[in-house]
Amino acid sequence: MRPCLKPALRRAWRDRHTLQFGVGRAHAAVVESAEPADAAFLDLLDGTRELPALTAAAAGLDLPAERVGLLLERLERVGALDDADARRPLLELPPAELARLGPDLAALSLAHPEPGRGPELLLARRRARVRVRGGGRVGGAIAAVLAASGVGLVEVVDSGSVLEQDTSPCGVLIADTGRPRAAAARAAVRRAAPGRPDDGAAARRVPDLVVVAPRGDAAGLLADPGLSRELLHAGVPHLYAGVLETLGTVGPFVLPGRSACGNCLSQHRADEDPAWPRLLAQHCSGRSGSGSAACDSALATTVAGLAALHCLMFLDGASPPSLGGWAEVSMLDGSMRRRPLEAHPDCGCCWKPVPAAGGTMMATLDPPTGRQA
Ligand SMILES: [Zn+2]
Repeated sequence: MRPCLKPALRRAWRDRHTLQFGVGRAHAAVVESAEPADAAFLDLLDGTRELPALTAAAAGLDLPAERVGLLLERLERVGALDDADARRPLLELPPAELARLGPDLAALSLAHPEPGRGPELLLARRRARVRVRGGGRVGGAIAAVLAASGVGLVEVVDSGSVLEQDTSPCGVLIADTGRPRAAAARAAVRRAAPGRPDDGAAARRVPDLVVVAPRGDAAGLLADPGLSRELLHAGVPHLYAGVLETLGTVGPFVLPGRSACGNCLSQHRADEDPAWPRLLAQHCSGRSGSGSAACDSALATTVAGLAALHCLMFLDGASPPSLGGWAEVSMLDGSMRRRPLEAHPDCGCCWKPVPAAGGTMMATLDPPTGRQA
């Protein structure tokens, strides 16, 4: 291990003996009983020294080995310590790509504070494969944001040609109008992350995650039952995202067999409204309306960013709040709220549910498996 300080945490002295790392409430923490020589020691934590060399250099500052051990322990406890050795594989990236991903890496090092965990997770993102079904305002932007965040293989599945109403400043551009949607989406991903790895063998793997973000007026509530069954049977984790009228939704995030699915959502809706199955069939047939779907640009961009965040949480091994629920963003009042979703007893999709506090259905996350197709 080559200890270094996390560049993402600003540091400032609260008084002569108390050093504070971080600014915001989520990450601010203090190292107390600091001494004048400790400040010079911090300058040694630049990631160039193994522990023995660091201890020897500290001795030149009249800091004994015991003090070095104590300081490193305190720095690790407040989440300020990183391991430069873990960053070494990242040095193989093109310099421009590494510089572009710098803020993402810094954020990962805060969200996952163990030394070296941030670089490990960024490398794991580069090995991940995500498929986005839908290359419209929401889907195209989700794909671009995921690629920009370091996901190595992002593919968009869609057909037909780009229409003006599909475009977004974050995804498929107005200049792509008329191009095949799949090609335009690939171009959006390349623009967002020009230094992505070659698709290679990863392209033959089952995706680690599928995002269902159909073009037009669609969201989790209007999940196509056929697609829902297909993804459940394939055992592929998936997330619904979209805009329906004036409401943006992200979720449910489905871990097949372990969390409520899109059909559970429809079944709950049918409990409230017996006509819902008939309405859903008409909506999914495409015969329930032919006008321009409502999809506010700002709302679509918000939904895309939030959906990408939930995807990244999953890929990084955390539980997104759309697991066992969904997030709503309202265009009417600009508010955001989470709705819980339990598995429906008539759906039969959950065979290994894990009840969580508050009664919502949650599950223990496994990291993406990288299963072979
Ligand atoms: Zn279900």
